Amino acid sequence: MTEQLKSQFTQRIIELQQRISSIHKDFAGGRDADWAEQAGERENEEVLNALESEAKIEIQHLSNAITRMDNGNYGVCQACGDDISQQRLQVQPAAEKCIQCAE
Ligand SMILES: [Zn+2]
Repeated sequence: MTEQLKSQFTQRIIELQQRISSIHKDFAGGRDADWAEQAGERENEEVLNALESEAKIEIQHLSNAITRMDNGNYGVCQACGDDISQQRLQVQPAAEKCIQCAE
């Protein structure tokens, strides 16, 4: 079961990395707009930046979760050492803390 989850996580990391590289492509292209459009582009850049940092954070969480799987402590709260409930893991498979510690 862990193996399956691990390949899901790996798949998700690949997707996120592809998303980041397409964000970079967007940054690189389409710079010939006049000043009015540039204002819109700057806003767009902010959105893309936010998306990129979100994706990076998620990658970090997922790769941490994979490391914990490798170490055999996946699903264990990193703060108190209790098991994280299955329900919580279903909603948030990369959760690092149990519901009590996360709050
Ligand atoms: Zn805890």
